[in-house]
Amino acid sequence: MLNSSYAKLPDHFYCHVQQSQFSDPKIFLYNEELFDQLDIAPTDFKNETKSSILSGNFFIPNTTPIAMAYAGHQFGHFVPSLGDGRAMLLGELQSRKNVLYDLHLKGSGRTCFSRGGDGKCALGPALREYLVSEFMHAVGIPTTRSLSVVTTGDLIHRDSNVPGAVLARIARGHIRIGTFQYFAARQDVTALKILSNYCIERFYPELKVSENPFFSLWNIIAQKQVDLILQWMSVGFIHGVLNTDNISISGETIDYGPCAFMDNYQSNKVFSFIDKNGRYAFNNQPNIILWNLAQLAQTLFPLFHLTEDHFNQVISHELQKLHESIWDNFYKNISQKMGLSLYSQSTKNLAISWLTYLETEQLDFTLSFIDLERILENKNPHLILKENESFKNIFRLWNEELENEQREKQSVIKQMRLLNPSFIPRNHTIEKIIKIAGLDSNPTSENDVLHEFLKYLRMPYLRTDKLHPLQQPPLPHEVVSNTFCGT
Ligand code: AMP
Ligand code: MG
Repeated sequence: MLNSSYAKLPDHFYCHVQQSQFSDPKIFLYNEELFDQLDIAPTDFKNETKSSILSGNFFIPNTTPIAMAYAGHQFGHFVPSLGDGRAMLLGELQSRKNVLYDLHLKGSGRTCFSRGGDGKCALGPALREYLVSEFMHAVGIPTTRSLSVVTTGDLIHRDSNVPGAVLARIARGHIRIGTFQYFAARQDVTALKILSNYCIERFYPELKVSENPFFSLWNIIAQKQVDLILQWMSVGFIHGVLNTDNISISGETIDYGPCAFMDNYQSNKVFSFIDKNGRYAFNNQPNIILWNLAQLAQTLFPLFHLTEDHFNQVISHELQKLHESIWDNFYKNISQKMGLSLYSQSTKNLAISWLTYLETEQLDFTLSFIDLERILENKNPHLILKENESFKNIFRLWNEELENEQREKQSVIKQMRLLNPSFIPRNHTIEKIIKIAGLDSNPTSENDVLHEFLKYLRMPYLRTDKLHPLQQPPLPHEVVSNTFCGT
């Protein structure tokens, strides 16, 4: 039932792992719809063994669970050997259209890559990942998906003793920029070629006929990453740890550590407690992704068959093009969220003025677009948008642009409803849920807020006449300014 094409790659791509030894694994959350959504044939996880399989306590016979090797630039510093230190790839599931999906456990215990770590994951971060990834999927942003959270029955030591958990996730793949860096650091060109061919075969088979498939591979990964960052930014998402080991070659959002969504708009917002210099700030995500892509290009250099000069020229030209397109597309997305469809210098300026206004007045990023939509519908705005001179100016220009476009009002409103979620995984609500779950040494998911939140995160475009409490920005005493990796 579970094959593993990755485990068929050479031995030094991974190491084998042992079954976990948790005392009392219990299903805390299970994503019933996921297999249906991914079009994967139902698996025969028997109920009595589900929690054992999804915690790593029991290996399905004839499978080859492994920990994958990778390196990575962490906050700009290269670490040649990271790897799955608290995770394992159980194997791959196949969709009805023959697409492979990794079934991967996080928090399942120590591996050969654990270094000093305990190999464990606390319940809190597992819940954060489950909630945020469900939302990401619901707004159409490529992401790893969460299949389950299993509590292990054991307490683990973080700042205090907290319940341990294992998150099972499903992804198109777990190969990272750091996987390429692992082999490049060892000057293992053969492995780089095997890995590149594996990625082409599995994720981008259309590149097989390309003239220079390895360069095309870099190009397609670059475009996927840029698209992904733009999608994040249009919903106010800050990943928090865009290290090269957290950048997936399949173009999915991966590794929800200290990630968070902005409440009020702040262009250089940082949540992660350890990101002291704002390397991964909201508006630095484009720069960083290009930096990461430059690292990937370096690793692939031996496969491109270009002289060093030519390589440098080509890559800097491509990166420059991407850089220009990111910011232009960001403002384009904002203008579309405002209901406009034609992008021009004047709509770009309008988007910039709008963001400047939100930032100056510290207004909620998500609800401000909902309010614009309500104004168009002649409904009372939820927030009292501050009707100062800047707003009046923006409002006038916005109306002029809408008139210019001469579209039916209903089609403008329809566009806004499709592009602007009204429910987002607000940080203070996630923290509240995590706190409730962490209080109990034997937690269960009998937690109304958790299920209610999950329900709305799965239908984030819902419109409500009165603001639902889960849509509300935090009150001053509820604001959570720091997030932690929770490792
Ligand atoms: P992350 O911050 O989750 O992206 O992890 C970065 C690196 O640290 C990866 O190699 C992880 O496997 C490793 N790591 C994180 N937490 C632990 C842990 N508790 N035990 C062992 N390794 C860990
Ligand atoms: Mg990681």
